[in-house]
Amino acid sequence: MRMPGIQQTTKVHSKYWSVAELMPKREMKRLQLGRLREQIDYAWENSSFYRDRWSAAGFSPSEFNSFDDLRRIPFLEKDEIRKSQEQDPPYGMMRIPGRGPINRIAMTSGTTGKAVLIPFTEEDYFGVFCDGAARYLWAAGVNENDVVHVAFGFMPFAGLAGAYDTAEHLIGSLVLPGGAWDSDLRLKMIEKFHVTVLVGTPSYLLHMAALAVENGIDLKTIGLRAILTAGENGMMSVPSTGRRLEEAYGCKVFDYAGTQETNNFIWTCEEEVGHISEDLVYCEVLDPETLEPVLPGEPGTLCVTDLLQKTHPMIRFLTGDMVNGIDENYECPCGRTLSRFKGFQGRMGDIIKVKGVCVSVAGIENVIRGIDGCSDNYEYQAVKDGEKDKIIVQVEPAKGLRQARWPSLRTKVERTLREAFMINMEVDVLHPGTLPIYELKARRFRDLRS
Ligand SMILES: [Zn+2]
Repeated sequence: MRMPGIQQTTKVHSKYWSVAELMPKREMKRLQLGRLREQIDYAWENSSFYRDRWSAAGFSPSEFNSFDDLRRIPFLEKDEIRKSQEQDPPYGMMRIPGRGPINRIAMTSGTTGKAVLIPFTEEDYFGVFCDGAARYLWAAGVNENDVVHVAFGFMPFAGLAGAYDTAEHLIGSLVLPGGAWDSDLRLKMIEKFHVTVLVGTPSYLLHMAALAVENGIDLKTIGLRAILTAGENGMMSVPSTGRRLEEAYGCKVFDYAGTQETNNFIWTCEEEVGHISEDLVYCEVLDPETLEPVLPGEPGTLCVTDLLQKTHPMIRFLTGDMVNGIDENYECPCGRTLSRFKGFQGRMGDIIKVKGVCVSVAGIENVIRGIDGCSDNYEYQAVKDGEKDKIIVQVEPAKGLRQARWPSLRTKVERTLREAFMINMEVDVLHPGTLPIYELKARRFRDLRS
C-alpha cells in the first residue's frame, strides 16, 4: 500500500523490500557519498545550528569530497540536543523548518537523562523511517495476510510505533491495537485474533511467554509465525535471548535496532545475520577514547549520520552505544549485499572494566539466558569491595526449580560467568518475582562504585 505523495522503494521482490538490499558495494558507496554531500549542503543552507557549529570548527561543505573528510565535521551528542530543546522548546535544533507540518513525534525513553523529542514530517516518517521499518518486517516474511500485534503501551517510542504504522500502512497487514491491555488480556487477544506476528522488547515478550505457561496457553500452537524484537538487545547481540524466545513461542525470531534519533537501520535477515540499511544511514565505528575510526570490523562506539532524513538530520551523531563492529565484506547466504552488523555490547557508560576485563550488559545477559535453571530476569551491580571493584549478579530461578537446587544453580552461574569473563563475580539467587518487569527498556545494570 502506498501513502499518497510518498516516494517509496516498495517491495522489489517477494524476499527483498528495497533495491538497496541488493546494491553492489561500489554502487552503494557512491550513493552514500552523494547523499552525504547533499545532506551536508542541506544542513548548511537550512540549519543555523549546524552552520554555526561547523563554522566555529573551521569546516565548510565545499571541503567535503570523500568519506575521510567527514572526520572534519564536529560530532553531535545527545546532551546538546537535549539542551537545545530546553532552550528552544519543543524541538530545539532537531527541527529544520520548511519541509511541511510535523506529522509524527517520537520520544527517547530517557534512560540516559531527560527525554528527547523527535519530530517527523509525513514524508520523513512514511518515506524514510517506515521505509526502513518495512525492510525488517518484510525480511521476517510479514505480509498483507498477517495479523500483527505490537505489544507496548502506545508511547511515542519510534522503535515499536514505527513497526505498527509500517505493518498497517506500508505492508497492509491487519494490526491489532492494545495499548492499555495488561499482559493477561494481551495473551487472550493474541489467541482470539489469531495473531501471526508479535513485536515487542525481548524482556517483555519473555515475560508474556512465562505468563502464558502459568495460564495454560501453549504459544507454540496458536499460529504465531514470527517474533520481532526491538528496544533492547535481541538475538543479534544476545544469541541466548533469541534461543529462549524461539523455544517459548515455537517460531522464528527476528531482531531490529537503531536509535530513536535516527532510524531503525539494523535488522536481521532469515539467516539471523544483522544487516545495515546503508542507503539510509552512514555508520562509523570509533575508538571510544580517541573518537578516531577503528580498523574495519573492530569493536568501538557507533556514530551515525542520516542520509535522507530532512526534518531532523542527525549528522555525526554519537549514539553512545558500544558495538562489536561492522563487516563490510561479509557475503550473507540471504543474498543481501548490505554490510553485516556484529551486535551491540551496551551503552558506553554501562560497559565497565573490572580487573582489566570489559563487562558488558550483552555479555552478562548472554550467559544468564544460556543457563536453563535461570529465569529470564536478572540484574547486576558494580560495587566497591575495599579498594577493589566487585560485580554482584542477581538471578531468579526458573519456574519450578525446587529451592533445594538453588545453591547448585548459584554455583553453576558463578562458574559459567567465570569461564566467560575470567573473573569471579558474586551471585545471589533471589526468590522468583523479586526483580521488576519492564515493558520497554529494562534497566539491568547499576554502577554503585561512587
Ligand atoms: Zn542476510
